[in-house]
Amino acid sequence: MTATSAKKTSSAKTSGPSPAVMGTYARQDVVFERGEGSWLISTTGDRYLDLASGIAVNALGHAHPKLVAALTEQAGKLWHTSNLYRVKEQEKLAERLCALTFADKVFMCNSGAEACEGAIKLARRYHFANGNPERWRLITFKSAFHGRTLATLASAGNDKYLEGFGERAPGFDLIDQIGDLAAVEKAIGPETAGIMLEPIQAEGGIRVGSTEFLRGLRALCDQHGLLLVFDEVQCGMGRTGKMWAYERAGITPDVMAIAKAIGGGFPVGAFLATEEAAKGMVPGTHGSTFGGNPLAMAVANAVLDAMTEPGFLDGVAAKGLRFKQLLAGLKDEHPDVIEEVRGEGLLTGLRVKPPAADVVKACMGEKLLTVGAGDNVVRLMPPLNISDEDLGEAVARLSRALKVVAKTAV
Ligand SMILES: *Cc1c(COP(=O)(O)O)cnc(C)c1O
Repeated sequence: MTATSAKKTSSAKTSGPSPAVMGTYARQDVVFERGEGSWLISTTGDRYLDLASGIAVNALGHAHPKLVAALTEQAGKLWHTSNLYRVKEQEKLAERLCALTFADKVFMCNSGAEACEGAIKLARRYHFANGNPERWRLITFKSAFHGRTLATLASAGNDKYLEGFGERAPGFDLIDQIGDLAAVEKAIGPETAGIMLEPIQAEGGIRVGSTEFLRGLRALCDQHGLLLVFDEVQCGMGRTGKMWAYERAGITPDVMAIAKAIGGGFPVGAFLATEEAAKGMVPGTHGSTFGGNPLAMAVANAVLDAMTEPGFLDGVAAKGLRFKQLLAGLKDEHPDVIEEVRGEGLLTGLRVKPPAADVVKACMGEKLLTVGAGDNVVRLMPPLNISDEDLGEAVARLSRALKVVAKTAV
C-alpha cells in the first residue's frame, strides 16, 4: 500500500465540509443538488427559497429551460477554440451588448474581477495612446468591491481583504464615501486617468449613488478628459429594473465592467467601452484563453434573449416596487430589527440593528437564502423572474425569521 492511498482513506469523510477544499469561505453546511426556478433543493430534500441567486448571478433562476437548451445544444457542437480564431457566438454577443449600451467595443472574459481588471488596463492604455502615459491613476471609492485580484483589491482598499498580501498595487486614489463629489474633484491631478465606481455599491451594503452624484462625476470627467468607468458587475443586467444602473441617472460611462448575471450561472464577464476609450487596446495589449468561448457565449446570448423579451424589465421594476412596499411593511412591524430598506428594483437590502449575520442565519432557519453585505446589511436579490407568489412567500418567511431574531435579541 502506498502512502498516497493511505492518506486518501483517512480523509474520506462521509459528512461535513471536506478539508480538501481550501478554507477561504465560512460556508453554510448545506449541499444543494437541484434547482427549480427560485427554489433550491438540498441533499436532505429540503426546499429553500433563493433570494441570494448565487450572489446576483442566477437572474433567471435555476435550470431555466431556455438556458439548459442553449447550453446542451452548444455542448454537442463546439466548446472552445481560443481567441486565435473568430468566434461567431462571441461576435453576436458583442454586437448585442453594444446595441444595448453606450459601447462600441467589448472584450469577453470569465469573471467580474477580470472585467474590472481589464477596465483598469483599458483606462490606463487610453491615456498612453494619447501620448499621456503619466495619466494612469484611477480615483476609486471605499466600501466598493471590484474583485479579488491584486489590482482590484487595491482599487477598493478594503483593509481586511488586503492584509497579508504585501504592498498594495499602486495607482488608486481612494475616496472615503460614494457621494462626495467635492472630494473627487479635489483628488483629480495631472496623473488621473479616470474614476471607477459601482453606481450602486452592492457588497458594500446597497449604497445607491445619487443621480446628482453620478451626473457630477460625468461632468468632472468631461471637464478634465477622464474616463468614467462603471462597475455594473452586480447592479447591471436588469437587476435595478433597467438593463443598466447608469440609465437611472440619464448619463453614460465610457467604460463598463459586467459579469455575474450575464452568464446566468455560467462564468462570463466582459468589459465594454466607447470606440474612443478603447483606442489603446490594439493587438497584443490584452488577452484571455477562455474568454468568450462558444459554450459561454451560447448561454450568455440565451440570457440576453430572455432579458430583452418585451415586458421583462418592466416586470422586474414592478416586482421591485411591490417587494419594497412589502419590506416597508415589515420594517413597520419590526422597527427593532430593520433600520432601513435600501436599493433599486430587485437589488434590495435591509440595514438591520442586530448583527446582519444573525438575520441571515434566522432566514436560513426558515429556509430562505439571503446574503450579508457591508454596513450591516442583509441583501435580498431574488431571481429577476421570481413569481409574485414566491415573492410573497419570501416575505412571509422573512417575517418569521425577523420574529426569531427579535425574540433572541431581547
Ligand atoms: C462580484 C463582483 C465583482 C467580482 O466578480 P468575480 O466574478 O467574483 O470576480 C466585481 N465587482 C462587483 C461590483 C461585484 O459585485
